[in-house]
Amino acid sequence: MAEEKAKQTQASDMPDWSAYRGVMIVVEQRAGVAKNVSWQLLGEGRKLADKLETDLIAMVLGQDIYHLAEEAIAFGADRVYYCDAPELRDYRTRPYSRVCLQTIEEVKPEIVLFGATATGRDLAGAIATHLPTGLTADCTILDVEPDPSRLLLASRPAFSEKMLATILCKQYRPQMATARSGVFEARVPDPQRQGKIIAVPSQMAEDEIAAQVLRFIEATETFNLEEAEIIVAGGRGLGGPEPFKLLQELADALGGVVGASRAAVDAGWIGHEHQVGQTGCTVRPKLYFAVGISGAVQHTVGMQSSDLIVAINRDANAPIFKFANYGIVGDLFQIIPAITDSVRQKRA
Ligand code: FAD
Repeated sequence: MAEEKAKQTQASDMPDWSAYRGVMIVVEQRAGVAKNVSWQLLGEGRKLADKLETDLIAMVLGQDIYHLAEEAIAFGADRVYYCDAPELRDYRTRPYSRVCLQTIEEVKPEIVLFGATATGRDLAGAIATHLPTGLTADCTILDVEPDPSRLLLASRPAFSEKMLATILCKQYRPQMATARSGVFEARVPDPQRQGKIIAVPSQMAEDEIAAQVLRFIEATETFNLEEAEIIVAGGRGLGGPEPFKLLQELADALGGVVGASRAAVDAGWIGHEHQVGQTGCTVRPKLYFAVGISGAVQHTVGMQSSDLIVAINRDANAPIFKFANYGIVGDLFQIIPAITDSVRQKRA
């Protein structure tokens, strides 16, 4: 009853936003390949749009990216606005934000979501400032209230990750948020799905754009934890930086990458970009090895959605075994080299 009253108050407090309808996902791509977070957001956006009984809209920008508009429909979009232009080949804030702003102003979505990547954060910030509206960064849970408020409930860790804050944007539209990769699940793409693909014009000519991309240098050419399909993660049980070489050998044999618990990162054994968990990356690989990791909740929130979890720990009562599909009780220094040898033999 009290909750019902609170909702009514919210709705009556708010301006009339009936001109704004639809949930829009801004798809991020590089060299014609979409980031996984975009498809994950389409999966979550589909649920929000269904709850609001409205359209799921995708926005795709770049050069030679028509195929991504088709993929967006397969991943759940009803409508896709795409802008294909040479000046959009590489991400630059002004030409990208101009096209997005123009499209948002014309289409009037009630919600706009971006991946919480370097590009997504930059673009979302620029757009929110111009519209102007609020922006909730780094969300880990998204939900909506149905009619009449149709509010986006954007939740994210707050106060040094000790609390979860749910942030509302009542006085402005659209409601905007960025969301972390690996938190939401992409739908299985359906190539038979039908939807509308609408071309929109670019808003700036090359000679109006001050920033030039001279060269693109990958931060780490072979390392991408959030998008990795296989992760071999190590914790305090490794006892130092050297044993991470054992994990790297197994990861190389499997075609995966190395992850870590915060204990290993805080000890300085491996870089923070490898950290999985509440204050690191949220990952959703096909295969996750937790090696010498006890299974603290701050670690498991970042990896528990992995398809298959293998835990290796010498303590049979370690909490990580509750999350594991396969558990091996024993000394990692014997078990890891044995698995690596076996993988190499099978691949030889
Ligand atoms: P431990 O808990 O010390 O576990 C080591 C394990 O190794 C033990 O289970 C032991 O049995 C096993 N072991 C030891 N030797 C061997 C051996 N030879 N063979 C096999 N097993 C062995 N943690 C994260 O991971 N990610 C985060 O993002 C994160 N964020 C946090 C945010 C906050 C606000 C706070 C308060 C904490 C956070 N933590 C995070 C820390 C978390 O609470 C744990 O302290 C941390 O995950 C423990 O790391 P661990 O499992 O490697 O170490």
